[in-house]
Amino acid sequence: MKPFKNQITMYEDESVEGFVFRLAHINYIPTNFMRIEKLKRKFDKEQISIYFKAIETLSEAKIVEENLLHEWSKDYFTLPDWNRGQYSRFCPECLLNRAYHRMNWGLSFTTHCKIHQVYLLENCICCNKRINIQEIVSDQCFVCKKELTNFIASSILEVQNYLNLDEYYATSFYSIFLTYKEYLKFFRRVVYILGTRYLKLSIWEKEKYYFRNNGYLEDITQLCELNKIVYSIFEAWPSEAVNFLIKNCDIGIGYYWLENELFYIISKLKNENLRKMLRNSIHRDYGWINSDKSILERLIGHEEREFDRMYVRVSDLKFVMPKHKFYELELNLNEFEVKQHSWTKRLYLLKSSFKNKYLLSL
Ligand SMILES: [Zn+2]
Ligand SMILES: [Zn+2]
Repeated sequence: MKPFKNQITMYEDESVEGFVFRLAHINYIPTNFMRIEKLKRKFDKEQISIYFKAIETLSEAKIVEENLLHEWSKDYFTLPDWNRGQYSRFCPECLLNRAYHRMNWGLSFTTHCKIHQVYLLENCICCNKRINIQEIVSDQCFVCKKELTNFIASSILEVQNYLNLDEYYATSFYSIFLTYKEYLKFFRRVVYILGTRYLKLSIWEKEKYYFRNNGYLEDITQLCELNKIVYSIFEAWPSEAVNFLIKNCDIGIGYYWLENELFYIISKLKNENLRKMLRNSIHRDYGWINSDKSILERLIGHEEREFDRMYVRVSDLKFVMPKHKFYELELNLNEFEVKQHSWTKRLYLLKSSFKNKYLLSL
């Protein structure tokens, strides 16, 4: 295999798949004839290294592994039907600046362009066809032949937070041992709970499936809003995120995956004391210690759990909340009396009115 005549360099944020199309394009070769074996639906490390080697030989470029969208699609971070059509969103203005495919356009949680403050597009404005990577690189809808750079994307009204690798490292999420992908998985779950349970979005069944698995909603403005809320919850990690989950995910059919994930996230907290406390609280709250209990039995114990839930929110989370904020949010100290806990023998502040049994360890 010899290098191609016309060579290009890979942009830092370019997808590997987009780069392959661009390489083919500039050498006037149909991608089918490039002698790069396409990655199958299920691929292993060896296949990836063969794939990369072929690209690197032909292009003499260094491939950035993180920019392989196929790898992201394994965890369902790409837009639905990725394997079938390699669909992606795009920003027409970025494309006009430089005609290449940005890797994060292919990820469902990327809803807007940070540079131009517009919502990304994913369908042809003319014929409504879903746009794929090859069309983006060629700047053309293959059905109606319209140029994508002529499309106008709608502006977003206020500056939005944006999920990407750089900013991830700058957030308070630093206090947790999570990879970026684990963080995104958790993020996606919370977006789903917020949308379906809390805000009760009316979406059709198939889209619900996409929403749960890929974090994808057809209405990009709605998805962007949801992401924004969840982003703000996560900024105050873990207190806000755990509070949110405790308030919104009671034990119930079909939510075991969530408990498992929550538990997993907690196991990754850096602060050992906090980790232990949250784990114990979750055990108390959800009855994981007696995981063979039936759902009915658990529901009967609802009142005690309600009590425990408050206990979690106040005493366990005070370690991560600034004190003044904590009092503002939860407590009017005049309503409490000092008690000793029966088995830990520690002193607590107790508020005795029903449903508001707060305990605060002193
Ligand atoms: Zn842009
Ligand atoms: Zn079209």
